[in-house]
Amino acid sequence: MNDALVPFFDGHNDTLLLLHERAAGAGAFLGGTGGHLDLPLARSGGLAAGFFAVFIPNDPAQPPAAAGELPAALEPGYAQRVTHAMIATLHRIERAASGAVRVVRTSDDLAAARDAGALAAVLHLEGADAIDESLDALEVYHQAGVRSLGIVWSRPNGFGSGVPFRFPHDPDIGPGLSDAGKALVRACNELGIVIDLSHLNAAGFRDVAAHSRAPLVATHSNVHAICPSPRNLTAWQLDAIRDSGGMVGVNLHVGFLRPDGLRTSDTPLDVVVDHFVALVERLGIGHVGLGSDFDGALMPAGLADAGRLQHLAQALRRRGFDEADVRRLAYDNWRDLLARTWR
Ligand code: ZN
Repeated sequence: MNDALVPFFDGHNDTLLLLHERAAGAGAFLGGTGGHLDLPLARSGGLAAGFFAVFIPNDPAQPPAAAGELPAALEPGYAQRVTHAMIATLHRIERAASGAVRVVRTSDDLAAARDAGALAAVLHLEGADAIDESLDALEVYHQAGVRSLGIVWSRPNGFGSGVPFRFPHDPDIGPGLSDAGKALVRACNELGIVIDLSHLNAAGFRDVAAHSRAPLVATHSNVHAICPSPRNLTAWQLDAIRDSGGMVGVNLHVGFLRPDGLRTSDTPLDVVVDHFVALVERLGIGHVGLGSDFDGALMPAGLADAGRLQHLAQALRRRGFDEADVRRLAYDNWRDLLARTWR
């Protein structure tokens, strides 16, 4: 990576989903996908590390959900087939990249990737739909490199329930974690897997806060007081994250940024910075980072892909963050959060 660039660590991308939907593989990622994130864009924009999500699309064999409602729980066999395909794609990318992309499992792996100028990939499951309640699959996925897990994407599963995509709306809707969900929290603590609260509803959030020993993390969510989407975090949720020494990654999806919730890329970068400023005021400078949602959402025009991440560094400087603060927000805070969580 070019030394003049501020390195970024991104808390969420859906690039494995984009590759899956196009039936594309390692070659597309290494050569360029035309999407928001690939190896050439990471290099030109300064993206040094990122959480690569396994997001399972709705099952085409199931009836679609009504507008504003959540889809039904997935059939486990379908969820596992898609999960295995997407994990395999990331490992094939690593092999084909000959050292330029590395799946990192420890803080030492992360530091070594940074020293080598490689793109570090943290394998994340966006929803535990592929995991059985005896947690056998969790052990296998951990061995395959999974180091971060959201208990739910917004659809329900055997562990918990998520938030619907309504606007404006409060995240306080639906029941909390099942007993299996609480056991999943304990198992993630034991394995050192990050538990991601983005997409989880308020009752589930409270249950994780009560049962987890790890810092609380929302990898790709914003401030509800600025943009009242149920995907964003209310004051008490932010306080719980702060009290745990946790972390929030700012999501670049315009519908989670804008006070009016409108889905238009004609959204100024200052709105992104507004969320950074509000989060730093509430959590402190060491507990905020990026959680872009690249390849999974609609970006502001000024941050249309990972190649433009230095524009974000510029926008943060313009708002008065000094160079050390910009580097913490861009990279160091995610590195340090993982050091506090992984084992
Ligand atoms: Zn998401």
